[in-house]
Amino acid sequence: MPELRKDPIVGRWVIISTERGKRPSSFGDVSRRVAATMCPFCPGHESNTPPEILSYRDSATEPNQPGWHLRVIPNKYPALVIEGGLSREPEGIYDKMHGIGAHEVIIETDNHGHDIVDMDDRAVRDIFWAYKERMVDLERDHRFKYILVFKNHGEAAGASLEHAHSQLIATPIIPKRVAEEMEGARRYYSFKERCIFCDIIRQEIQEDVRVVADYDAFIAVQPFAPRFPFETWLIPKTHQSSYLELSDAEYIVLARAMKDTLLRLKIALNDPPFNYILHTRPVSNEPHEYYHWHFEIIPKLTKVAGFEWGSGFYINPTTPEAAAEFLKKIDPKKDITEDKSEAAG
Ligand SMILES: [Zn+2]
Ligand SMILES: [Zn+2]
Ligand SMILES: [Zn+2]
Repeated sequence: MPELRKDPIVGRWVIISTERGKRPSSFGDVSRRVAATMCPFCPGHESNTPPEILSYRDSATEPNQPGWHLRVIPNKYPALVIEGGLSREPEGIYDKMHGIGAHEVIIETDNHGHDIVDMDDRAVRDIFWAYKERMVDLERDHRFKYILVFKNHGEAAGASLEHAHSQLIATPIIPKRVAEEMEGARRYYSFKERCIFCDIIRQEIQEDVRVVADYDAFIAVQPFAPRFPFETWLIPKTHQSSYLELSDAEYIVLARAMKDTLLRLKIALNDPPFNYILHTRPVSNEPHEYYHWHFEIIPKLTKVAGFEWGSGFYINPTTPEAAAEFLKKIDPKKDITEDKSEAAG
């Protein structure tokens, strides 16, 4: 059973999960670039994964059989496990609890060679819809305080398999990063009585030097103080504290915005490894005025090294203004028609 341990000095929880050390990809002799014939996420290999939790599939097909275009499965090598109680307890001055949580994999497509940028809008929408469906379901489990959705693309960004997928981890505590962001936003609200994210959106649109693309309902911007070159945030323009406040019709709008943003990054940076993460308000938190959900997309172009680890400072060699100008000029539609015979349907 994995264990959660709290650092008594800075209050950061770590997950001690020895099971994950055993997964094949952590050993050097297994290539991550497995062929489709070997890939456990490809159709026909459903028996190589744990049974599916959710799938979008042709109506006449059975679960855990081919015929799907999106599948959600439990992670075979979970960082946290679903069974058991939290049993939070001290150990002298220390705090620990059982590593209870959910760790799921969203297999985004049945096509081994496709990624979000290659998929049609409705298929991309289904990915975001699946996030929502899983979050709604997991929020019913009272042990969970937060659900973090993220995507690792490329080996350098932590993807252990090439086949396009994202992941979701439900945790029994609110992650420190999220708590810090929420606390900062709450403090700003306490003296301005306005949402900091809404204020950022307003100013960025007005100044128009860090905006990458304006999608009507969403905006892609470079943050004023980015940690990494080409760090890009995708934010809904109307105030919503939770991802689950999106209306049903807005998921396709989000899909188009994310696809366009990722395509710009892909063209600009020659298909870089990247992570994206979804920051939304914690489970069973009421909708509120001060926090505003968003995606953070982080291309992996630099290494986090000693100074960053030791100080919490990040050294970023690219100004967000230059990055925004560069990304803004790219025409993603041109790339699609030139390079891809867009899959019909
Ligand atoms: Zn595959
Ligand atoms: Zn807001
Ligand atoms: Zn954030």
